[in-house]
Amino acid sequence: MESKNHQSDTHVVFNQPKPLENYNAFTADRILQYWVAQFGGQWGEDRLTSFGGRIGGDLLEAGMNANQFLPTFRPVDRFGYRIDQVDYHPSYHQLMAHAIEHGHCSMPWCEKNSGRHVVRAAMAFLHTHADPGSGCPLTMTFASVPALQAQADIAEKWLPKIVSGRYDGRNIPWYEKEGVTLGMAMTEKQGGSDVRANTTYATPCEAPGGGKRYSLVGHKWFCSAPMSDAFLVLAQTDHGLSCFLVPRWREDGSKNPIHIQRLKDKLGNQSNASSEIEFRDAQGWLLGEPGKGIKTIIQMVALTRYDCMIGSSALMAQATKEAIWHTAGREVFGKPLHHQPLMQNVLADLALESEAALAISMRLARALEKLDNPHEAALVRVGTAIGKYWICKRAVQHTYEAMECLGGVGYVNDNVASRLYREAPVNAIWEGSGNVQCLDLLRVLTREPDTVSVFIAELRYATGANDAFDRAVYGLEEQLGSAETLAYRARQVIEKMAILWQAATLLRYGEPDIAEAFVQARVETSEYHQYGTLPSHIDMTTIISRAMPQSSG
Ligand SMILES: Cc1cc2nc3c(=O)[nH]c(=O)nc-3n(C[C@H](O)[C@H](O)[C@H](O)COP(=O)(O)OP(=O)(O)OC[C@H]3O[C@@H](n4cnc5c(N)ncnc54)[C@H](O)[C@@H]3O)c2cc1C
Repeated sequence: MESKNHQSDTHVVFNQPKPLENYNAFTADRILQYWVAQFGGQWGEDRLTSFGGRIGGDLLEAGMNANQFLPTFRPVDRFGYRIDQVDYHPSYHQLMAHAIEHGHCSMPWCEKNSGRHVVRAAMAFLHTHADPGSGCPLTMTFASVPALQAQADIAEKWLPKIVSGRYDGRNIPWYEKEGVTLGMAMTEKQGGSDVRANTTYATPCEAPGGGKRYSLVGHKWFCSAPMSDAFLVLAQTDHGLSCFLVPRWREDGSKNPIHIQRLKDKLGNQSNASSEIEFRDAQGWLLGEPGKGIKTIIQMVALTRYDCMIGSSALMAQATKEAIWHTAGREVFGKPLHHQPLMQNVLADLALESEAALAISMRLARALEKLDNPHEAALVRVGTAIGKYWICKRAVQHTYEAMECLGGVGYVNDNVASRLYREAPVNAIWEGSGNVQCLDLLRVLTREPDTVSVFIAELRYATGANDAFDRAVYGLEEQLGSAETLAYRARQVIEKMAILWQAATLLRYGEPDIAEAFVQARVETSEYHQYGTLPSHIDMTTIISRAMPQSSG
């Protein structure tokens, strides 16, 4: 507990925990290893071990640097030529290169092994520990693949570079690079959730149609990762809203006129540059059918929503680990903080919540591999809205509570706990905010009864082991039945569906003790809203030990 290395002239520094660093973020995380194995990802363990070594090692520091030395925007070069250059700290490029080279953007599209989405999800989860901000371009690049496949001739040129496992952060044309990254630009000032309000207009340069060249004029109010090599952009055409691939460079080697207006000054997500842009006759290629832009881009959107689940699960897991680690290294009133009963209740509650979040994220990763199975495809459809809504919302309260476990040092910016808290709301806001997820769920409830039946079946597979859970599943079916007030009750309904899905996943695939504790805390007892209110008969020590990082390196 006492540190001789930190003496000062006036006092002895003691009772401060060692920082959680120089450790292997994969092998130290028993819960992540459990869920990777549970859903068929054992074959990826060596790769994840190597990945986790860097994440808990040099890349942890790279993440701190990338969030301290923020991206800066240079509109023109020193002679006044327009360059639209965003400069990042070298750490950012290091983080991007590491993730891409290990398959963060490509693995599920290149590997044949069952469990490929699960291993990739674990990678995305671990990467978030080092830096959630660079997770944004990584996610968009990964998620662009199914949307690009809507246009075979374009896909043929771009996909090999997207899945190449190479990172090249230089501001040069995409065709001069071995590997590329992609962004997406949908949101305009007058409407982000309602993209039908988009006014950016695309005019055909020659004949209209899929794969043809258009000229785009308009603006986008949010465009993250503006140094991406191309963007999937929604723009109006004579046939309605359509989806375009808009590269940053033209094929003749000139800059495609996508002018960055400025970078956003954001609450969190700082290593990731988010910009406002204008298209000034920018060239773009139509993906899929004209007028079917939402149908084309929704495949990308769905995967980025799924990645928000993983990202927020990771924020919660890291916050939990930091809280447990810190409290295990600090004494109060003569006893380690993590042995104080009330602190144990908070820590165990945080641990339960983050494991439940990871469990459904991994369940969805598994389902994504089996989209030709109607049950799994329907689960992806409905589970993405439920999981995105619930996990991203829970992360905000969760990261705050974990920060409080650290006391004052948690609140200062050189501690990762405060970064996790500032990061947490973004996953809830972008890619369809909370209410938009609820509206998506309502669409399923009112128009896709078969999908709802699959969700109920997924819950029912877990019945028979716990009476309280069984009763709650039947209660949910009644709640879904009365349709007339659903539009007002959607948050209540989605919340209940989320908790029961988490309980079902834990009961079916999880450790029995954890599943039992979760049902007791979240299904049987629902009147408390702060963390640290688990019923006292729950074995909190076991839950905390499971979540404790396993070694310090
Ligand atoms: C850091 C950051 C980076 C971003 N990066 C990108 C990017 O790269 N590309 C991109 O295209 N966009 C990006 N966005 C934009 C983001 O996706 C939008 O902000 C988001 O979709 C919400 O749109 P909006 O801001 O226009 O809010 P609005 O659409 O005005 O929504 C405001 C609120 O109203 C709610 N709401 C909307 N409709 C309804 C309804 N019918 N009933 C009830 N409630 C409703 C929403 O849930 C939300 O809470 C980014 C945003 C942030 C914060």
